[in-house]
Amino acid sequence: MSTEQVTLQAKSPFELRVNLGKEVPEADVRSALASGDMGFLHSFTTGATVDGPGVRVVAWTAGCMWRCLYCHNPDTWTMSNGIPVTVAKAVEELRKYRQGLKAMAGGLTVSGGEPLMQHRFVEKLFAAARGMGIHTALDTNGYYGDRLSDAALDTVSLVLLDLKTSDPERHRALTGMDNAPTHAFARRLAARRLPIWVRYVLVPGLTDDPEDVAKTAAFAGALGNVERVDVLPFHQMGQFKWKKLGLEYKLEHTSPPSNELVEQACVLFRNAGLKAY
Ligand code: SF4
Repeated sequence: MSTEQVTLQAKSPFELRVNLGKEVPEADVRSALASGDMGFLHSFTTGATVDGPGVRVVAWTAGCMWRCLYCHNPDTWTMSNGIPVTVAKAVEELRKYRQGLKAMAGGLTVSGGEPLMQHRFVEKLFAAARGMGIHTALDTNGYYGDRLSDAALDTVSLVLLDLKTSDPERHRALTGMDNAPTHAFARRLAARRLPIWVRYVLVPGLTDDPEDVAKTAAFAGALGNVERVDVLPFHQMGQFKWKKLGLEYKLEHTSPPSNELVEQACVLFRNAGLKAY
């Protein structure tokens, strides 16, 4: 096994990774982003069962323009923390798992970071995966959804869409960004009948206001293409990364939600006609 393979594979995305692409000249980064022939990956993990249907190979991309207060992978914010990987190399890795993924009704998930920071690389990877008959899932905050052409969306089997909070002000305070582009992307996916699995991180005191959750649920329910909602309890597994990166972590004293609070949120999504877990 080559050094590149050893470093690309990770047991989980919770491994802290920094500066792995810092030697790549800025001009090369720009041309990689423009062509999509090279991407910057935090890691590849295999065997996950929570990032789409069946057993998944997950490519974790580096680079995210949001700054969610509860982000558990802040080392994926910076693209230069990722390992530069050619699309040919990524496809070669994926090919090894092709038969197994099909046998286990799984597929490839591209997550992050925010994959659409490198949308051309993702497009090429998904086109190759679909060419091998592999199911593809895009895990995204949706902000750059308009970067994907309709043809590119045709290579996506499923979108795992992170909805954070409905209230625009609260959304800006939570992520640093507007939620309107995410909502526009969700509507576009709905018009194309492309299935969505919503992911909703439940953080006590930040995203658990029943009225706000109900609004998010109503929005998701009205789309008509949301197959399921996963209410993901906030956890502290990423806290050590904030500290090691010298970032100010504001949720040090926030506890994970109780089972009751998670169930209450699920009920609000179910009230909007959705399957929520
Ligand atoms: S969108 Fe995802 S990767 Fe980006 S800051 Fe938020 S939680 Fe982290």
